[in-house]
Amino acid sequence: MAQVQRMSRLMVKTLRDDPADAETLNHKLLVRAGYVRRTAAGIWTWLPLGKKVYENIARVVREEMDAIGGQEVLLPALLPKEPYEESGRYEEYGDLLFRLKDRKGADYLLGPTHEEIFTQVVKDQCSSYKDLPVILYQIQTKYRDEARPRAGVLRGREFQMKDSYSFDTTDEGLAEAYALHRGAYQRIFERLGLDYRIVSAISGAMGGSASEEFLAPAPAGEDTFADCPACDYAANTEAVTFALAPVDGSAHGPVEELDTPDTPTIETLAEHLGVPASATLKNLLVKVDGEIVAVGVPGDREVDLGKLGEHLAPAEVELVTAEDFEGRDDLVRGYVGPQGLEKVRYIADPRVAPGTAWITGANKQDKHAKNVVCGRDFEVDQYLDVVVVEEGDPCPACGTGLRLDRAIEIGHIFQLGRKYADTFQLDVLGKEGKPVRVTMGSYGIGVSRAVAALAEQTADDKGLCWPKEVAPADVHLVAAGKALQTELALDVAEKLGAAGVRVLVDDRAGVSPGVKFTDAELIGVPQILVAGRRSAEGVLELKDRRTGEREELTVDEAIARLS
Ligand code: ATP
Ligand code: MG
Ligand code: MG
Ligand code: MG
Repeated sequence: MAQVQRMSRLMVKTLRDDPADAETLNHKLLVRAGYVRRTAAGIWTWLPLGKKVYENIARVVREEMDAIGGQEVLLPALLPKEPYEESGRYEEYGDLLFRLKDRKGADYLLGPTHEEIFTQVVKDQCSSYKDLPVILYQIQTKYRDEARPRAGVLRGREFQMKDSYSFDTTDEGLAEAYALHRGAYQRIFERLGLDYRIVSAISGAMGGSASEEFLAPAPAGEDTFADCPACDYAANTEAVTFALAPVDGSAHGPVEELDTPDTPTIETLAEHLGVPASATLKNLLVKVDGEIVAVGVPGDREVDLGKLGEHLAPAEVELVTAEDFEGRDDLVRGYVGPQGLEKVRYIADPRVAPGTAWITGANKQDKHAKNVVCGRDFEVDQYLDVVVVEEGDPCPACGTGLRLDRAIEIGHIFQLGRKYADTFQLDVLGKEGKPVRVTMGSYGIGVSRAVAALAEQTADDKGLCWPKEVAPADVHLVAAGKALQTELALDVAEKLGAAGVRVLVDDRAGVSPGVKFTDAELIGVPQILVAGRRSAEGVLELKDRRTGEREELTVDEAIARLS
């Protein structure tokens, strides 16, 4: 017996107008159709219909995580600060962390992600190589004080994530756990009916090396990815800044390294270049320990040697000039290895279109802004490099022009390696009786965000339009008429329920058929069954929510079709 929900008793209030603050389709529709309610900025209440969709997604995630041997646990969201201090993330996360104190004044935080705590759990529970490998997961509420909570449940400050963690004694084991997750994620997103791409990504605050993202293309997405139409290359454009390699000119014309003195200082370098030490220079690229820290280009950006000298320990400075600093774009380009770096371009005039510029802070520590506009969001002096990948730039794998698309990050998988195991000295006793350091992976899916991503990808001009697996019901049965139709509809609903079909039946009295149809289309259950004029003769009308195709069926035919 599947559930029969009666609209007359369901707590759902549909709205005709978009909420004033809603910019994105999912936000507008999920609020208007009565799935979610805003409690505060980035903090959401799941109403009955929304909770159903959320739980359907969570169920698919659980089934596929269980299928790869994941064991479900539940860790607290309220966490002591010490483990995060040990890993350095208490500082690193900066304003993103919700911090609080208990009555005794001790420091706590609300967990943004749980690598530290999982590492401690396994350290406590596993002591021998025989206890590994292990995959643990939870579906749990996370807290991040996002700078711009927007787009409804797409970016919450409180949100639900499936996070899992793998623990292995060997690199091969980690690679296997990573592959298992990759496969499980493909099955999950397939089953949910999401259109998605797997792209190379950066590891960000997680640390670690290999990492891929699962992106759901949608205009409301806050990520931009480069996609090659000719081969399988795809990467988040974020990956560009972090994969930035020392410019070696290998791909684009000569970049000349100056023969610098043994212990270079700004003065000796200035002398070498034949300019005063206070000079401001164009056509100049400055690297410190292999990292680019300043770029001077023809036009409105230049390097002030005097200022640089104040900030840099002289011995660290290495100056490089690029011969091909002609024109206003295409100033510096670089390519790197297997993670696939696209063309990197330092631009002279960073007033680039929002959504295509990424700014990396001077200290390269998490000062990572997106969708920025120079002058409005940052001072040129504060930040030193701007990286832009543009539509049509050559694919690093095959040279074909790349396409750029907007997308929503729905999942992210990382091979962390031994970063957290090192922090917490997570060892197990190996086969030879010696301690072996454990290697880890961490893997996330935005479960609440997936509701929004699905809404974005599947909605049409009439409203939400869920794929069957996640829909809050299999069929929306509309009693379109007087008491007789309502009675008949409730009878059909019972029969459908008994046949295992999940029914939402609109049995509301005093609501016109027109309003009921509009609501049915807004709510977005995949099949709409109408008990109308001919229902007394036992004839119903079945309408496909997506295609609008209609056909007349007897009650028995409808039950056979829907079950
Ligand atoms: P984003 O780039 O969108 O800020 P992230 O890279 O910071 O996401 P991860 O740390 O990789 O996120 O977390 C794993 C998953 O959790 C993400 O892939 C995403 O689906 C989800 N997620 C992250 N932040 C939020 C949020 N604020 N609201 C809803 N879901 C989120
Ligand atoms: Mg984030
Ligand atoms: Mg991200
Ligand atoms: Mg991520």
